[in-house]
Amino acid sequence: MALLVAALLLIGKGCNRPELTPEQLTLRPGLSTLAIQPDWTELEDYQQTIPRRIFIEQLSKIYSQDEAWRSVIEVHEDYADIRGRGKERLRLRFAKTNSRKKPPRYWRSASELPGVTNLKKAPLSGLRIAIDPGHIGGQWAQMEERWYKGKREGTDVKEGELTLATAKVLERKLEALGAEVWLVRDKLEPVTNLRPADFEPLAIQVLKQRGMKPGGIPLRKESEVLFYRSHEIRRRAQIINTEIKPDIVLCLHFNAEAWGNPGSPQLVARNHLHLLINGTYSAGELRLEDNRFHLLKRLLQRTHDEELPLNRAVAEAMAEETGLPPYIYTTNNARQADSNNRYIYARNLLANRVYHCPVVFLEPYVMNNPEVYQRVVAGDYSNKREIAGKMRKSLIREYADGVTEGLRRYYSQARRQ
Ligand SMILES: [Zn+2]
Repeated sequence: MALLVAALLLIGKGCNRPELTPEQLTLRPGLSTLAIQPDWTELEDYQQTIPRRIFIEQLSKIYSQDEAWRSVIEVHEDYADIRGRGKERLRLRFAKTNSRKKPPRYWRSASELPGVTNLKKAPLSGLRIAIDPGHIGGQWAQMEERWYKGKREGTDVKEGELTLATAKVLERKLEALGAEVWLVRDKLEPVTNLRPADFEPLAIQVLKQRGMKPGGIPLRKESEVLFYRSHEIRRRAQIINTEIKPDIVLCLHFNAEAWGNPGSPQLVARNHLHLLINGTYSAGELRLEDNRFHLLKRLLQRTHDEELPLNRAVAEAMAEETGLPPYIYTTNNARQADSNNRYIYARNLLANRVYHCPVVFLEPYVMNNPEVYQRVVAGDYSNKREIAGKMRKSLIREYADGVTEGLRRYYSQARRQ
């Protein structure tokens, strides 16, 4: 399947379809940098698909930080007025409670997948899964600041390489259960054809707006951030939403605690796990037109109804497999999304916002924990080995096994025979 994605990318290149419009390379008030200008008419397809009660409940409980949503959405008896572009308003009519009109979307929920003859052997048959190995790794790891140098063995720990290694193991395991799998990235290179220098004109505008002199190190750093943290993820979203169109996306990450100087990193005793579903938009984020648009698209596609139970199953299996305790957020940009599962938080990330299907965004393992470091040094191996006094699977196989088991349980239970 990796080859197919490569072919699709080549088609993209062959058509010479630009990755960015000139407008995206300019600062636009009320829009995130590099965001695609939303087409609000797309939401017309969702008229009378969502009942008023569900609309309000999901905004209040999942998508909005406190009552922030009320600053941009006004709810009436039969409709809501939503702030679109500038001062424009979109009127969304609610469904009558008995409406069975299905919202348009490219992905299928577990209950919409075709029936399976052998649920035990192939619980994922026909399921389309995109695996997004977080970050880039390789020569880019240092720029991404997802890298540190181990003290004793001198092994470099690069998040973008660990995620790709995990993705490749996971791909085989999911295919063995019948899934069709695509790797959004299959090498230690960015998915975008653009490079930091392409973002310099925009970086100059960003720095000027902050009252900074646009040159030297700040200019280089800002161009790099626009390249790897913003555009690279938006490019992956474009491939996911317009080419792969999967039923779910698995975003693989490894967590870390502040390690200071990457050449002489601080190791920490803490080690933990959490998963992030999309939600908890702040008032500031809701002032951005693209944020409002993506929130509405997810809400109207009923993405959360699939995303939450799917994440719950994966979180449970990952907790059992890794034995890790939950990470506890102390900031207000994330909140617990499920009273029954302490591992799941709702947080508004670029990746779980702009991928228009259910996303499982995983943050297991603290990379600068000494035991995790030893496991990275040990590399990949079969069966178990003693590491830090415990018999352990290889780090990436344990990760892949946890995710696979979560998906196996979820789809075995939720889809039709
Ligand atoms: Zn990460």
